Amino acid sequence: MEPVAVLGGTFDPVHYGHLRFADDARRALGLSEVRLVPARDPPHREGPAASAADRLAMLRLGAAEFPGLAIDERELARPGKSYTVLTLEELRGEDPARPLLLLVGADAFRGLPTWHRWREIFALAHVVVVARPGVALAADLPEPLAAEWHARRTGDPAALLSAPAGAIYEARVSPQPISATVIRAQLARGPAGRAAVDGLLPRDVLTYIDRHRLYSPPTDAT
Ligand code: ATP
Repeated sequence: MEPVAVLGGTFDPVHYGHLRFADDARRALGLSEVRLVPARDPPHREGPAASAADRLAMLRLGAAEFPGLAIDERELARPGKSYTVLTLEELRGEDPARPLLLLVGADAFRGLPTWHRWREIFALAHVVVVARPGVALAADLPEPLAAEWHARRTGDPAALLSAPAGAIYEARVSPQPISATVIRAQLARGPAGRAAVDGLLPRDVLTYIDRHRLYSPPTDAT
């Protein structure tokens, strides 16, 4: 039974860090699809800079470059904070036996103990972690997470198929030094910053950003 694999995020905006991470992990795990799950109201940060409609439109444009990536809009439709545990519970309810994979970058993984009902996540899904440049994966993990890491860590991808949930697996994919925060900061600098982000995100996403004047410098600074 092929696992359901999800990568949640703010995608503000989507970039090649997200897209290559999702697609490389998909191929490394032999999956036909990874679902990108945009958050309507991400719990761990200030509200997104772009609207949910714009973030979804950009995500559609970006995912179109990757035939193995799909978009799951359930968090955009759900009121309240976009807690991952609720999304995993919904997916688990759809198929109790099917393995569920939660893909996270190393930064998100390290922050797991701050997530709503975080320990329940391991009962609902396997966690697949990828390296992110500049972020240590396993060194100095916060204590409750270090215990989970040691108890659940596996280097065997077959473990992700033999149970519906519960393992932590480190996927070996090439780290992409790209972050949405840096992209937004560059775009806010105006034309020089706009040139600097070329190639970090799909061309159609950049065209959308330009057309809708997203992340642009404040008008009195131009
Ligand atoms: P920001 O820089 O604003 O925090 P972000 O680029 O981290 O944004 P998010 O939408 O918050 O993007 O990230 C969603 C998920 O994608 C998280 O699990 C994050 O760790 C992961 N991710 C984002 N960029 C990368 C990257 N370059 N390499 C690996 N994982 C990434």
